[in-house]
Amino acid sequence: MVGLDAKKDFPVFDQRIHGHPLVYLDSGASAQKPRCVLDAMTRFYETDYANIHRGVHELSQRATAHYDEGRRAVQRFLNAAHEDEIVFTSGATDAINLVAASWGRTFLKAGDEIVLTQLEHHANIVPWQLLQEQIGFTIRVAPIQSNGEVLLADVTALFNEKTKLVSVTHVSNALGTILPVEKIIAAAHAKNIPVLIDGSQAVSHGSVDVQKMDADFYVFSGHKIYGPTGIGALYGKRAILKTMPPYQGGGDMIESVTFEKTTYQEPPMRFEAGTPPIAEVVGLAAALDYVAGIGMEKIAAHEADLLAYGTEKLAALDGVRLVGTAPHKASILSFVVEGVHPHDVGTILDQQGIAIRAGHHCAQPAMEALGLMATVRVSLGLYNTRGDIDALVDGLKKVREIFS
Ligand code: PLP
Repeated sequence: MVGLDAKKDFPVFDQRIHGHPLVYLDSGASAQKPRCVLDAMTRFYETDYANIHRGVHELSQRATAHYDEGRRAVQRFLNAAHEDEIVFTSGATDAINLVAASWGRTFLKAGDEIVLTQLEHHANIVPWQLLQEQIGFTIRVAPIQSNGEVLLADVTALFNEKTKLVSVTHVSNALGTILPVEKIIAAAHAKNIPVLIDGSQAVSHGSVDVQKMDADFYVFSGHKIYGPTGIGALYGKRAILKTMPPYQGGGDMIESVTFEKTTYQEPPMRFEAGTPPIAEVVGLAAALDYVAGIGMEKIAAHEADLLAYGTEKLAALDGVRLVGTAPHKASILSFVVEGVHPHDVGTILDQQGIAIRAGHHCAQPAMEALGLMATVRVSLGLYNTRGDIDALVDGLKKVREIFS
């Protein structure tokens, strides 16, 4: 077992919830923040804060330096070839909407097809549907197996000469399935189809290398990797970003403005209109430093141990059925408790200080494919321990007692 002892880095654990130690098993929805992230943001506001790019004064220059360093931190984290391939967005949802509104509106036309999977989060479905209503392309959907797996062959079977984009999740937020994204990308590229990977649930559980993977776009949210809310990133290959028009207009994204003709900055600035979330970039950079300091490989090994332990313990519990048992999974355990609504499970666990999520997890098509309305979802973070899983198991035994 690879043990991490990280709870001490997170102030949220210095409290009791309903009289119990906090057992936080909802990191897939949003991860807790280490002290170093909170301190970096406070320090920035206390000493270096000003608006970026537009000031000659000392504080504006310091703030700009922090912002630019934040971009390099994301570049290093994803191993992007160039700093200008990183566009700051408010999160993964915003990043996918950016690609749909800019790349999609420019390059998709009626009669084209794009390929998604049944496992996608609504954030990788609805932006495409909104665009589809305007343009009239077709969305084709690769199915999931009953164990929550997505087969490479089911994705590639949908490729044809009309396919213009593949947009798939790296890791399913509802079930934890890891998709074979490298193989999907290679197969799509063999047919000159660009690929967007939604890395929201992947980045915090193992290292990501966008060059090795050869993704054309890769998106993630800072708040799921121990950073603040309101910040995330779109990685896009330089050559592709350069072909994309702005999708929002305003300050900072222009080169010059006249009422006759306005010209735009090069990427990434072209896509960052208005005052960005500057302190949040500082917080995100601190979070990426924090996980790099521990080591993504160590985090992945720790969480793999917890996932295996949790899978074994839950599978052995009477009346509990795991949903999503694909051979390759990351840090998420979805399940149903016989005869008990997932929301009731959540409420009873909460009374014991255990935070889980119950519902459709913004993945209604996946739930429907599995014949379910909702599941209970446990999602692990680097601060979780085997003790947390034991507390969950005890909590679930209580749920069963109450409903027996
Ligand atoms: N994609 C996946 C797989 C997710 O799990 C989530 C959030 O749960 C999102 C996209 C959207 O992330 P955000 O709400 O941070 O934009």
